[in-house]
Amino acid sequence: MNYKDYITIVEDWPQEGIRFKDITTLMQNGPVYKKAIGELVTFAQEKQADVIVGPEARGFVVGCPVATALEIGFVPVRKKGKLPREVISCEYGLEYGKDCLTIHKDSIHPGQRVIITDDLLATGGTIEATIQMVEELGGEVVGLAFLIELAYLNGRNKLTRYDIFSLTTYQ
Ligand code: 5GP
Repeated sequence: MNYKDYITIVEDWPQEGIRFKDITTLMQNGPVYKKAIGELVTFAQEKQADVIVGPEARGFVVGCPVATALEIGFVPVRKKGKLPREVISCEYGLEYGKDCLTIHKDSIHPGQRVIITDDLLATGGTIEATIQMVEELGGEVVGLAFLIELAYLNGRNKLTRYDIFSLTTYQ
């Protein structure tokens, strides 16, 4: 299966010079979406994951079906001000400025084996911040799973301690 056939490249979105990888066309195709998720399920199963963690919003699209397939929990990571109970947070750098992600303080138990999912690995900043919070709560990050990896942004270089699975890579 060549997943690239189902991903749409949108030129100059959200700003000029960016070639945005749109996964909504992959999700619209039921059998392809199911097969893609199935591959991530196999990875998470091999890693004996206890829980899946995913950052909003596209991390939910990938992580929730993996969690339900394995009958394990899903923990959302959200932007500051969105989660209703006590959180821990992590600031991370964007191209211009900073952003802040949060996770519920009681969502991960020490020693739990955690897989972090997102649709796409670019510079790795989002995932690095997510890892930092999971580890602060005592979780063991046993793998990182993506639909897409943008190899030219070198996210992997920030994440050398972790096992990374991506369905398709753009060079
Ligand atoms: P990073 O933090 O690794 O630089 O960026 C990854 C985050 O940005 C992911 O949460 C992802 O959803 C989003 N992102 C950045 N570029 C793209 C893109 O081209 N397509 C999609 N679908 N998401 C992107």
